[in-house]
Amino acid sequence: QTKIFHSLRPHVPLPSETLPLSAAEFAFSLLPNNSTFADTTTVLIDATSGHRISYSEFLNHVEILSVSLQSLIGLSRGDTAFILAPACLQVPILYFSLLSLGVVVSPANPISSKSEISHQIQLSKPVIAFATSATAQNLPSLRHRTILLDSPDFRSMMTIPSGNKLNRVDVKQSDSAAILYSSGTTGRVKGVLLTHRNFIALLAGFYSVRLENEEENSPHPVSLITVPLFHVFGLFMFVRAVAFAETLVLMEKFDFEGMLRAVEAYGVTYMPVSPPLVVAMAKLEVVRKYDLSSLLLVGCGGAPLGKEVSERFVARFPNVEIVQGYGLTETTGAAAKMVGPDECKRHGSVGRLTENMEAKIVDPVTGEALPPGQRGELWLRGPTNMKGYVEDDNATISTLDSEGWLKTGDLCYFDSDGYLFIVDRLKELIKYKAYQVPPAELEHLLQSHLEIADAAVIPYPDEEAGQIPMAFIVRKPGSNLSEAQVAPYKKIRRVSFINSIPRSPAGKILRRELIDSAVSGASAR
Ligand code: AMP
Repeated sequence: QTKIFHSLRPHVPLPSETLPLSAAEFAFSLLPNNSTFADTTTVLIDATSGHRISYSEFLNHVEILSVSLQSLIGLSRGDTAFILAPACLQVPILYFSLLSLGVVVSPANPISSKSEISHQIQLSKPVIAFATSATAQNLPSLRHRTILLDSPDFRSMMTIPSGNKLNRVDVKQSDSAAILYSSGTTGRVKGVLLTHRNFIALLAGFYSVRLENEEENSPHPVSLITVPLFHVFGLFMFVRAVAFAETLVLMEKFDFEGMLRAVEAYGVTYMPVSPPLVVAMAKLEVVRKYDLSSLLLVGCGGAPLGKEVSERFVARFPNVEIVQGYGLTETTGAAAKMVGPDECKRHGSVGRLTENMEAKIVDPVTGEALPPGQRGELWLRGPTNMKGYVEDDNATISTLDSEGWLKTGDLCYFDSDGYLFIVDRLKELIKYKAYQVPPAELEHLLQSHLEIADAAVIPYPDEEAGQIPMAFIVRKPGSNLSEAQVAPYKKIRRVSFINSIPRSPAGKILRRELIDSAVSGASAR
């Protein structure tokens, strides 16, 4: 019986590892090599203002900004830039410039609290921060420089040539390209180091699929990115769209009806989404007000999508393919995906392994690799696996073993056709509307509260959000509790007061016991 599952997709050759190549250069190398394309194709549209940028303008902005960042600001290969911004048109221009200079991009959720941002900055040690006048207020006072993307200064940095020449930077593929934030399988938020090679490998895989599936008369692809650009899903989706010469619609401020309006107005053909949006599209009446006939494909990932929800979606949108993808920040996103009409009929699965990816299903107790049909922890190995967690060897070693296997913390199985099914999450992570909520972070806050003797936080199932954080709290006598200092999506939305938190002899919270008691308690009610 198979113990290692190999991708069933054709092997995709990657550029030689020794070749200096940034993810930005690789992306640009895939663009059509003709000047009318660059002048006539729109790369970016701002959904609210309708402002458009053509590929010629985009490439020009990237080049001028790269020179400015290098010669005026002094950024160089290996520096890190912290980015706290909504999905505005400047963001893709900034990312591509930084990547081509070998500067590590480290984007964070703009609605993070100050203490969350301080923690992230401590991890990534940026030399510069990019924000907008609104998001800059969340930045703790920094010793280093902050540049506002909506300022005249930034505008001139990307539009007015400084007269200096770009000093070409030889970026190694093994250089870090991004530091993204994830709590992994346990504990607090960590910095996930992704290399240029990681992005090149993922792009090369998606590119081969595109070449295979390209049809003569298909309309020009227009994607609307509804997933955040600071998360690996959004980040990769816009790098992919640019590399594949597509048009990308960005919404600086997301609202559901605005999204529907944008689909109609710009003839959107593709939307990467997280599950709550599929639920909304399948259910809400307002959807019927708009002409969404341009939509061909919806790609869902980041959290589990119920089989009933995708079936309901298909019933409402029979002409739209809904594909699922599965991945982690630690695998640069997609590790499994669906390609083509046959694969996307497998509702309930997350598709098959991406190109060049291998997997094992490992019995969490015995460590034995299991055959198809049996459930165990999914381990992944491939060129998109992260380099490690920034300055956290312990976390890196316990997640990535010496043979390159990455332990996902997800309980999964493969069927005999190679389709992957995600059954449950073994790791601590809570996903509220696909946003990461590390229980350890909330427990730490709760436990440091003067009126709380002990606390534990678990995921509690919720139809709309997927999961909500639920706290079990052991109170000190006469307590009067206040709100936790976290981003809004991390708010504790359900509380139960108990006499003691169940712990293992080593003091580890027995989360499974609490989850079972919370869920059975609710169904008994
Ligand atoms: P993140 O690093 O934020 O992308 O979170 C990764 C985790 O999200 C995975 O380990 C899974 O637990 C969960 N996840 C991502 N995509 C899916 C999916 N399609 N189905 C179920 N869970 C998913």
